[in-house]
Amino acid sequence: MTSNAADMPFGQTRGLLSAVMASCRDAIIAYSLDGQIEAWNRGAEEIYGFSQEEAIGSPAELTTPRDRVGENDRLREAAIQGRSIEHFDTLRTRKSGESFPAAICGFPIRNEREEVVGYATIERDISGRMQAADTLRIALTEAQEANAAKSRFLANASHELRTPMNAIVGMTALALEEDISHELRDYLETIRDSADSMLHLVNDVLDLAKFESDGFELEEVPFDPRELSESAIKVLGTAAHAKGLELVCHVAPDVPTAVIGDPMRLRQVLTNLLGNSIKFTAAGEVVVDVSPVSIEKKRCKLQFSVKDSGIGISDKDQERIFKPFTQVDGATTRRYSGTGLGLTITQHLIDCFGSQLELESQPGVGSRFTFCLTLPLASKPEDTVSRATEKLRGMTVLVVDDNQASRDTLTEQFAAWGMRPAIASSGREAMRLVEKSLDKNSPFDLAVVDALMPGLDGFTVASKIEGDERISTKPIIMASTTDRLEFSRRCAEAGAAAYIQKPISQSQLLSAVVQASGVASLDGPPRKALFDAPTCEKLRVLLVEDTPANRKVAQRVLSKRGHEIEVAVNGREALDLFRKEEFDVVLMDVQMPIMDGYQATEAIREIERSGGRVPTPIIAMTAHSMSGDREKCLRAGMDNYLSKPLDLPKLIRMVESVSENGIKNHAAKPQHVEASKAAAEPESPMAAPAADLDTALKRLRGDRGLLLDMMGFFEQDAPTLLAAVDKNLESGQLAEVERGAHSLKGLASTFDAVAAVSSARDVEQAAHDGRADALPPLVKSLHAEVANLLAFLRDYR
Ligand code: ADP
Repeated sequence: MTSNAADMPFGQTRGLLSAVMASCRDAIIAYSLDGQIEAWNRGAEEIYGFSQEEAIGSPAELTTPRDRVGENDRLREAAIQGRSIEHFDTLRTRKSGESFPAAICGFPIRNEREEVVGYATIERDISGRMQAADTLRIALTEAQEANAAKSRFLANASHELRTPMNAIVGMTALALEEDISHELRDYLETIRDSADSMLHLVNDVLDLAKFESDGFELEEVPFDPRELSESAIKVLGTAAHAKGLELVCHVAPDVPTAVIGDPMRLRQVLTNLLGNSIKFTAAGEVVVDVSPVSIEKKRCKLQFSVKDSGIGISDKDQERIFKPFTQVDGATTRRYSGTGLGLTITQHLIDCFGSQLELESQPGVGSRFTFCLTLPLASKPEDTVSRATEKLRGMTVLVVDDNQASRDTLTEQFAAWGMRPAIASSGREAMRLVEKSLDKNSPFDLAVVDALMPGLDGFTVASKIEGDERISTKPIIMASTTDRLEFSRRCAEAGAAAYIQKPISQSQLLSAVVQASGVASLDGPPRKALFDAPTCEKLRVLLVEDTPANRKVAQRVLSKRGHEIEVAVNGREALDLFRKEEFDVVLMDVQMPIMDGYQATEAIREIERSGGRVPTPIIAMTAHSMSGDREKCLRAGMDNYLSKPLDLPKLIRMVESVSENGIKNHAAKPQHVEASKAAAEPESPMAAPAADLDTALKRLRGDRGLLLDMMGFFEQDAPTLLAAVDKNLESGQLAEVERGAHSLKGLASTFDAVAAVSSARDVEQAAHDGRADALPPLVKSLHAEVANLLAFLRDYR
């Protein structure tokens, strides 16, 4: 077009507008003021199926469904008042009778004198757009369902994987309790540690699902940062050795020995970072360093770092790699295996710790990942290490290692024990120092020699010293990353008094020094004996578990502790036994054929109620680890919860403490609690502490970790249980109110919280007796007591 419409004569413009109307794919319809159709374009013909001849002269209702005719009146009235109507979405009907979604706007038509002579609408068929929106909605629902299915799948898959892992971990722990050779113990410990790593892998995948659904929580238990770092690094020793890498764990001597945090998660972080460093390093070393940044009265700040001499990461890639499923080398034929999940989870965990993961890296030189944690200090366990090292004070020790990080760590450790280290970085230098010490007539008391060194290797150095007649005693410790069996054979041939496998842990180094020098007897650190005689009385335990291997683990462990075990392989069998006999505690698997753990627990509670029997503590055992499982168990009437794979010491602690707690309290509670409450109240009702944690701790045999665990459980569960009590009270479900109060009572009694226990018992009793009227004030006071106890526990923590 060469000229625009404004310049055209009027007739020509009209012609053009008619062409626009005719060509428009929307319906353009004109109406007279009395509502008759006066103009009907081709778009209207196409959309509605009525020809111009059919439509013109028809009423506006021609295409309007009966329930929408009011719209036509509104359009007409607006036009008469000279107003336009904005787009609105509605329904219209085609000639075929089919209705469809339409978007309509309307406006008045004016003549040359600006008088309104009619009105017009532009109507668009939006069924395509709506369909697209529907498709999108369906796709969204499907995606949400798929996501939920993925979470279910992950939970199930992890359950399936965790079940056999329980037997592997349990049987290994049992085997480790036997009187076995040093070598076999070493193998079994590696199996145990590897099984732990595998569990971590399963948990990694689960974690990701939990992060996505915000169902993630950290633990707060006491642990030793040194023990944790050394054991994390030990698991990866074989992988490092296979690549000929030097793996060093340096924990500064002044790192506190007891802090509070989440050791499993910290271990997961270190394992992830270490695993990567080993994977991406072809030669050289990987060093884990733990050093204090500050130590205050109640807490410390520790810096953890993992440094390698590997391929490094370019600046550009440093941001990318923290995203899930991302690797620097994205090619399908890439050289390094992996899922690209490790760093995502690591970073997320460190975020949860309230810290940041920092990365310094240079391609071709190496990487260093660092993070700092502020951790509360826990009360110190007995310091068996410094007792054992007293006799080492003043001894001279020759440290021979070609790797500087190894040398530095050993030297620092010896110095911390009060020994006097001398350092050699090669076999030759070592021999020179030995000669010099002989010249001065003060031979070294001890030598720690790295087996694999360039030039004169450690075995040769050891043989030379061994063969030297001027040296009367030859306490040599060989250190190496090589294959254990081969290593121990060659050490014996070279005349070494002891040997240690790298990466070296403090406890290992200490026992090798003691063995080689013979100066101190090692009365610590003692191996934690799982089967020491229990401090509680012999218990009758009903073990309900369908998987034979898992049954065997729990059965062996508890019977070795001197308890009497009755076994049922499903809920039905458990009920048969429970009807006939009394038990001190029931260990209940959750998923079982015929009758599952929830149903069995409910039935047991019913038997107790109807028979007037004292409730027996029931501990759930489940391989599910999604949040909500614990609550489900407690709701079903169980008193506590263990997740599989079973942590055997925890199993023992829980069976013995829960049952002790349960039996004593259940049997003596009514009079005992009432009496002590009555005695305490008149004197100073406000001053009585909400709980007696000293007694609670004594009952847990001083296990503060377990006490803190239990506090954590209480803090998690009490509000949920209280809310359920409220809800059930409102809907008149007194049996449920009774059950909730019973669980609260059990939980509160763990802390000897007399007032809360008594209040929960009052609610339980009133609900049991069907005294609905009495309940509201009792539940109110239960709220107050629980809030009081929660505040008390929080303060204590
Ligand atoms: P993956 O399972 O692939 O190791 P990660 O999330 O742990 O997944 O790591 C993502 C990527 O980051 C790795 O594939 C690698 O490219 C890079 N990366 C991580 N750690 C190192 C390291 N220490 N040295 C070099 N590259 C690393």
